Amino acid sequence: MSRRGILIGRFQPPHLGHVEVIKQILEEVDELIICIGSAQLSHTLHDPFTAGERMLMMTKALAEAGVDLSKVHIVPVPDVNNNAIWVSHVLSFAPPFTTVYSGNPLVKRLFMERGFEVKSPPLLKREEYRGTEIRKRMVEGGDWRSLVPKAVAEVMDEIKAVERLKDLSKTDYPLE
Ligand code: NAP
Repeated sequence: MSRRGILIGRFQPPHLGHVEVIKQILEEVDELIICIGSAQLSHTLHDPFTAGERMLMMTKALAEAGVDLSKVHIVPVPDVNNNAIWVSHVLSFAPPFTTVYSGNPLVKRLFMERGFEVKSPPLLKREEYRGTEIRKRMVEGGDWRSLVPKAVAEVMDEIKAVERLKDLSKTDYPLE
């Protein structure tokens, strides 16, 4: 039987730290499910990209990094307003898996309580490779391109992501 893991995150946007961690996990498992969390969210400063855009960015980033895409399954999962049923909700969308990769204490606890093996993959260069930092640089005109795979930057250009973020930032709310 294939060893199948799941990596859960929002991937707003996928960055070089995610690609490294995915390559690392693929050394441990035969196949990896990448769960695009909060799939219903888009067009906010905290969650600017749609699930479809994030899937496109992720697929192209992994192809660029030479990852065998036949070993990767990307699944968008919207949030539910009830943590106690969230694991069942994820299970209803994703292919079967045995190991969960997450750094989030709530995600870890919810899967642990359902008997899953849970691992915390370390993200590299955390000061820079952060979704928050990338989104901030996009709004402020900083160098965000060096933090994402070239393929992600190309999708960002295609969807006019900088323009979107700058427009969204014209608000009273602080940048998250
Ligand atoms: P997240 O929002 O993508 O991650 C939270 C923070 O952890 C971000 O700063 C992220 O950085 C960072 N991070 C991601 N992977 C990491 C790693 N390997 N090591 C260190 N830091 C890491 O995702 P999450 O909080 O883990 O949640 C996953 C998804 O599940 C979310 O969409 C959440 O809404 C959903 N969820 C839903 C429910 C529910 O619906 N009731 C319950 C639990 C979770 P980057 O931004 O750089 O990735």
